[in-house]
Amino acid sequence: MQKTRSFWGWGWQEELPSGEERDRLTGLLGAFFADHPPRPTPYPALEAIELPEPAVAVPAEFADFCDAGAFERAAHTYGKNYRDLVRGFQGDFAAAPDFVAFPRDEDDIARLLKWAAREDVAVVPYGGGTSVVSGVECGRDEATRHVTLDLARMDRVLDVDPVSSAARIQAGARGPVLQEQLAEYGFTFRHYPQSFELSTLGGWIATRAGGHYATLYTHMDDFVESVRMVTPAGEVVSRRLPGSGAGPSPDRLMLGSEGIFGVITEAWIRVQRPPVYRARASVKFAEFDQAVEATRALAQSGLYPSNCRLLDATEALINEVSGDFRQVLLLAFESHDHALQPWMERALAIVREHGGRVSSGPEYSDGTDEGGSGEGAQWREAFFRAPYRQSALVSLGMIADTFETAVTWDQFAELDRVLRERVQAAMNEHCGTGLLSCRFTHVYPDGPAPYYTLIAPGREGELLEQWYAIKQVASDTLIEYGATITHHHAVGKVHRPWYERQRPALFGQVLRAIKAELDPAAVLNPNVLIRRDGGA
Ligand SMILES: Cc1cc2nc3c(=O)[nH]c(=O)nc-3n(C[C@H](O)[C@H](O)[C@H](O)COP(=O)(O)OP(=O)(O)OC[C@H]3O[C@@H](n4cnc5c(N)ncnc54)[C@H](O)[C@@H]3O)c2cc1C
Repeated sequence: MQKTRSFWGWGWQEELPSGEERDRLTGLLGAFFADHPPRPTPYPALEAIELPEPAVAVPAEFADFCDAGAFERAAHTYGKNYRDLVRGFQGDFAAAPDFVAFPRDEDDIARLLKWAAREDVAVVPYGGGTSVVSGVECGRDEATRHVTLDLARMDRVLDVDPVSSAARIQAGARGPVLQEQLAEYGFTFRHYPQSFELSTLGGWIATRAGGHYATLYTHMDDFVESVRMVTPAGEVVSRRLPGSGAGPSPDRLMLGSEGIFGVITEAWIRVQRPPVYRARASVKFAEFDQAVEATRALAQSGLYPSNCRLLDATEALINEVSGDFRQVLLLAFESHDHALQPWMERALAIVREHGGRVSSGPEYSDGTDEGGSGEGAQWREAFFRAPYRQSALVSLGMIADTFETAVTWDQFAELDRVLRERVQAAMNEHCGTGLLSCRFTHVYPDGPAPYYTLIAPGREGELLEQWYAIKQVASDTLIEYGATITHHHAVGKVHRPWYERQRPALFGQVLRAIKAELDPAAVLNPNVLIRRDGGA
């Protein structure tokens, strides 16, 4: 069946929760928030949406790769953060692009950038549109005319080097599309963000995405061998190298550039042979502190499990991983080359030393089976369904958002304590009540990347004010307690005020100088990462 992208919510329209699933969610929320029951409203229809008149028409020379139709303009207006979902759900598409370009090659991109600089039209590079930080949005107050440049047609694996285990891939390849093509060469790309289904290689590089293999290689930085970027000033192409100490790295300039310097068109990426051997287990802990200490010991053991995901008791409960209000640690190892019993046995010995009780597994397999059972399998199911559920929660009048960070182990306990206290108080003040849970998405030897989910009842007409009041408290606390404003969700516009407090002031000036060199007419992504007006 041909699926259609939702023009306002996460993913495919046909997969948004409906019928029984939506009723079940409504019932569950009703039980949690008896005094503030959910308010189900039907999903919006495209025919009912009003879009602003385009301020610039598609130039004749670009007619064969641009689209000014209502669906594409609406679907490219926002990314997928809570605020985007609410505005889309409520039919507010004031920031719609004038048209959407789907370039076929670098020449189309270069010509479009040249035209935009000449005509003073802003350009927003767009991969899968899964940004949660308003990275693909451009308001009319920021640019009176803007075009979105979607790389969907540039999605091919162009070349594979089996000797070095690397592949040259176009930036617009979404996770499953890229994976399918690599499989034909007997390779895989072990980078698995939760947005995998829709996000793209170019987006991962532009935002320094974090995948969900939870230790060792997680960030895109670890996978990139070289990058090609088309800028308004010309091309930047780095050399393929396994490593290099030759001055500041050009790859580092492009990684995390969030579309403000140029359009990433392709990259050479380190790939791997698919795993054959797998080991899985889950472990329960009565206390969160105990579980944190066990996870730290594992992170520092040199075992580097492929999954080392700690769920606090609330997180385990709301994802239906475990109903006994215990913290759950999901553990997995994988290898193309060797059986994994010794690694798993040592990991389980470590967690037992810290008071953990093995609740499922260890299970070992040596084939193509990705499955597994127990808490791990339940978690995987919940993990991929969660984005669809968030869209459904918006349609039930709820505030449902996540925020994430990373901090060194020595500061984690204090940060976590203060965050929980302040965010809970903010939810109580602005929503009357609320639920906050935490999991570790990644763990490093020197610190975890905790990820918090909050759900609270919203008031009609006030959702965005309530949401932002809570977001501000969380973000201020992260900066005050030595953490990062984001471990993997990027900066965009939403996190920029806190990023400005986190980064060295002089570094901000350096970014502006680079932008002036590569994008002298300042057409790319106004106000993303750095302010267009040149402020702090
Ligand atoms: C439900 C959900 C789960 C998520 N889970 C994760 C996760 O596990 N890990 C993680 O890291 N992130 C996650 N994210 C955030 C998001 O998926 C990442 O930031 C992702 O890397 C964005 O990729 P994209 O292709 O969708 O890029 P887009 O959203 O289209 O763009 C992101 C930014 O990069 C720029 N950009 C995109 N493509 C290019 C290009 N080719 N050249 C130059 N600039 C470009 C855009 O202008 C924008 O500023 C999640 C988001 C959602 C909604």
